[in-house]
Amino acid sequence: MPELPEVETVRRMLAPVVMGCRLLGLEHDDPARYAAAEAAVGRRVRALRRRGKYLIFALEGGLELVAHLGMSGSLRLDEGTHTCARLEFEGATVFFNDPRRFGRLRAVPAGDYRTLPTLARMGPEPLSRAFTARVLEERLGRTRRPLKVALLSQEPVAGLGNIYADEALWRARLHPERLANALAPDEVRRLHRAIRAVLRRAVELGGSTLGDGVYARPDGEPGYFQIEHAVYGRAGEACPRCGQRLERLVLGGRSTHFCPRCQVR
Ligand SMILES: [Zn+2]
Repeated sequence: MPELPEVETVRRMLAPVVMGCRLLGLEHDDPARYAAAEAAVGRRVRALRRRGKYLIFALEGGLELVAHLGMSGSLRLDEGTHTCARLEFEGATVFFNDPRRFGRLRAVPAGDYRTLPTLARMGPEPLSRAFTARVLEERLGRTRRPLKVALLSQEPVAGLGNIYADEALWRARLHPERLANALAPDEVRRLHRAIRAVLRRAVELGGSTLGDGVYARPDGEPGYFQIEHAVYGRAGEACPRCGQRLERLVLGGRSTHFCPRCQVR
């Protein structure tokens, strides 16, 4: 699933292509998923923003076109075999490819996310100044869920999915089943630092392209952070920090990877 680093990579590459351009048309094959985006047609793009894992085209006239890439969506500059929608901009076409079809496009009044509850409840942007260890501690304190599950909810902090939650917890030496509201202050500080470090590095490398090849940049090139994954998808391999065999468990229905020696329950 595209997470913050992948969506940020897409944003950086698409922004110069669509900025200032008018959306001339939206063609799609599925009204249930994309008809709610049609109000965006005819409007010019003022800015391309990202919030967590959502890409937001800020349009003239106080409207936003919100793209959620779902499990397998990507925005490309070339048509693929799984193109579900075509965004025709002045001078460029952007193709929404989505083999598993969980992605959505929706036009909403700017900042009105009542129809997008995950976006409405989303925690702070992890790479912004608003995201401090104190803010993280306060937001983790609101839930008794296991840490990994709390992070995936987007409520303590925006943008983490399965890959970067596992990587950040390993880096912070915190077991994914620890309860979110039961961390010591120094543990919260470690997690805060780890989240920022992992995401910064992953953005630098253009995100993670896994073996399924589902995520790629808009120009079709892969990201490279998967080369630096310490635990994600590496159960059975040696922990890069201590050499212990990495393990996998299922938490909140999601595959979770960790080191049983570095991340003590
Ligand atoms: Zn270890």
